[in-house]
Amino acid sequence: MNPSGNLSVMPAPVSLPRRQFASDNYAGIAPEAWEALEQANHGHAPAYGDDMWTARAADLIREIFETDCEVFFAFNGTAANSLALAAICQSYHSILCHEISHIETDECGAPEFFSNGTKILVLRGDLGKLDARTIEHAVKRRSDVHYPKPRVLSVTQSTEIGTVYSVEELEQLGESAKRLGLTFHMDGARFGNAVASLDVAPKELTWRRGVDVLCFGGTKMGMAVGEAIVFFRKDLAREFEYRCKQAGQLSSKMRFLAAPWIGMLQDGAWLRHARHSNACARRLSEGLSTIPQIALMAPAQANAVFATLPEAALAELKHRGWRFYTFIGSGGARFMCAWDTTPEDVDALLADIRQACSG
Ligand SMILES: *Cc1c(COP(=O)(O)O)cnc(C)c1O
Repeated sequence: MNPSGNLSVMPAPVSLPRRQFASDNYAGIAPEAWEALEQANHGHAPAYGDDMWTARAADLIREIFETDCEVFFAFNGTAANSLALAAICQSYHSILCHEISHIETDECGAPEFFSNGTKILVLRGDLGKLDARTIEHAVKRRSDVHYPKPRVLSVTQSTEIGTVYSVEELEQLGESAKRLGLTFHMDGARFGNAVASLDVAPKELTWRRGVDVLCFGGTKMGMAVGEAIVFFRKDLAREFEYRCKQAGQLSSKMRFLAAPWIGMLQDGAWLRHARHSNACARRLSEGLSTIPQIALMAPAQANAVFATLPEAALAELKHRGWRFYTFIGSGGARFMCAWDTTPEDVDALLADIRQACSG
């Protein structure tokens, strides 16, 4: 309390002067997630996930996937991916993934660390995607004991460069994984954007296509924190709670990790927000496509836009206070739309890009 008896709010809130396009994790908490947190903030509840919020959140996930599955909640995507992969692999196995996949380039070796040394084998593919032929080649080119035995196929949906795998593409990948004896892992940090983009039932992009485990991202779709690890193959989840605990991922006040899932899933807010951020990315991409100095690097199928801009224009945009990344995916500039991006934000960025390119 401060002397006037009010709860002292810490230093005056410091936030960026405007919404940015650097990442969807620059955004705040979506109202539905916030509301659910507030509703969970009454009285006492059992700890470590034995509460009604956690049970309800896991049930809702089973409902939206229309299947029985095992659900765990972790604090972030690096842990979700790493622990899921560790549950599948022995140390002498390998994980096949795209060369720009998050598990390879942005997790500081956590998948290898948590699996005690499983090797990540990177593969190439257009538009951030893998295809069945490449996978088949990687598995079949060696069968001797000197090669780390391929055990997992990992794909990212939507991908690191804002494209999405179609149902048919996933079908082929799933079939090939099955034929080659690979477990199928999906990094769904932006799974909502993929579902919204393709407008199909979540099951059509997951277990129906052979996906065995999905890391379902909550943070980037509008929560403060939290990812769900969803095991469609329940046998893979055996003793998984011990992995979570050992890795420091078992929340003691689990209801606050779980409740936002209820807010986001129960009436479809997750898809509303994802459709909105996808539409903002499309608007940006369409605008950029009319500027001669700019080349789009991939179709904007989710909430990201990748483009190459002249160096001077990038510098000018930074000078004007815009933040964006130039090191993600395959170079170029990345502009990311979030649940709270507005069409006016997009237009303001576009106007500055136009000026920066003509200046
Ligand atoms: C953001 C992201 C993650 C999770 O990252 P954390 O910072 O560990 O939460 C995982 N995969 C992809 C593709 C991402 O973009």
